[in-house]
Amino acid sequence: MRFVDLIEKKRDGLRLSMDEIHFWIDGYVKGNIPDYQVSALLMAIYFQGMDKDEIASLCDAMLHSGDVIDLSGIQGLKSDKHSTGGVGDKTSLSLAPLVAACGVKVAKMSGRGLGHTGGTLDKVESFTGYRIDQSIDDFTKQVNDIGLALIGQTGAIVPADKLLYALRDVTATVNSIPLIASSIMSKKLASGSDTILLDVKYGEGAFMKTPEDAELLANTMIEIGHSFNKDTRAIISNMNQPLGNTIGNALEVKEAIATLKDEGPADFKELCLHAGAIMMVQALKAKDESEARIKLQAAIDDGSALAKLKAMVSAQGGDASQVDHPETLPQAKMIVEIKAKKSGYIHELKAMELGTLAMQIGAGRQVVNDVVNLAVGIVLNKKDGDAIQEDDILAYIHTDTALSEEWIQHFYECFLIRDSYCEKAPLIYKVIQ
Ligand code: URA
Repeated sequence: MRFVDLIEKKRDGLRLSMDEIHFWIDGYVKGNIPDYQVSALLMAIYFQGMDKDEIASLCDAMLHSGDVIDLSGIQGLKSDKHSTGGVGDKTSLSLAPLVAACGVKVAKMSGRGLGHTGGTLDKVESFTGYRIDQSIDDFTKQVNDIGLALIGQTGAIVPADKLLYALRDVTATVNSIPLIASSIMSKKLASGSDTILLDVKYGEGAFMKTPEDAELLANTMIEIGHSFNKDTRAIISNMNQPLGNTIGNALEVKEAIATLKDEGPADFKELCLHAGAIMMVQALKAKDESEARIKLQAAIDDGSALAKLKAMVSAQGGDASQVDHPETLPQAKMIVEIKAKKSGYIHELKAMELGTLAMQIGAGRQVVNDVVNLAVGIVLNKKDGDAIQEDDILAYIHTDTALSEEWIQHFYECFLIRDSYCEKAPLIYKVIQ
């Protein structure tokens, strides 16, 4: 087989066979196919797409490019949830302990943040001493003992994705449904859970700009999940503005803790309850979502969800007292208030721009090797649809360095304020079960 023939076929809109796709992925991981040829194929896929069978073959080849985690040592069904990425998305930090308190086994492997999106691993490392690396034996034992664990993806999982993602990033081929779907699902399938809930974001701060495209991506991933006999469902949710009020690692951890005490923002709590109810039904811990929601609210009310978070932090070497004393989590040197320059209604709050601004003050990484400042970030005081008066505080900026005029100007540009009334957009567009 010659790789140039595969490029030519895809360029001309023909489909690649399972053998050809395996030849590509195996050869690339072994270093037998150069980046320039794979780049050309990726661009051809970007324009021509892939059909259902090609996507399933690509996912299968990627999945088997490295270790596939065997979680059979964990009793019962194991449940996973994955977000396609967004700004202020701290859902796993509240959702995992919440559903674990209701009996769902959560063996979660997460990633780090890059660019305007944050990563759960960086956030959870806000707890002093929290270890994200664990052997699979210890991971299994912890889930059997306390019902949940949250660790870093091992380097041995889906090495093909690491290579391909890095290449897609520099060849403008990230935003392709077949490539995103196979990238995400190969990692989910390699992580070994029985049920998968996908939170597919759409909007300004997401890969998919419209709910229709997000639905297409969700259905593509659900089809892959079903072809591997996994119960796979999806929520399509709005990322036209950040989720909750905080952007930045320790700030998001504080908001996740507040949510487990029922003191968090309503939009974020709603997403946790909605996702949690679906996960409980998937894990056979509730007969339907209404029963699940009652149990989830009870776990918040009786403190068992918060206790699960403490148990997880402690089991992974972290300082669980910080759950009761969030003021001991990393704190920025100063807090700068940003005030509204005029009255009106917030019509738009640009999520991606806000994520980028948070990254610029240190909350995220521009390139993979950047060091993240866990303390800094943005706390929004006003959100989409809110009425504001001149001089109202729009946000608090937690920062270690003085903010430049340019940064502040850019921050104001994230808020589109008009005189006319504006409805708050719904957070959840659709659920696909
Ligand atoms: N997240 C992933 O893991 N892969 C993609 O391609 C896009 C988002």
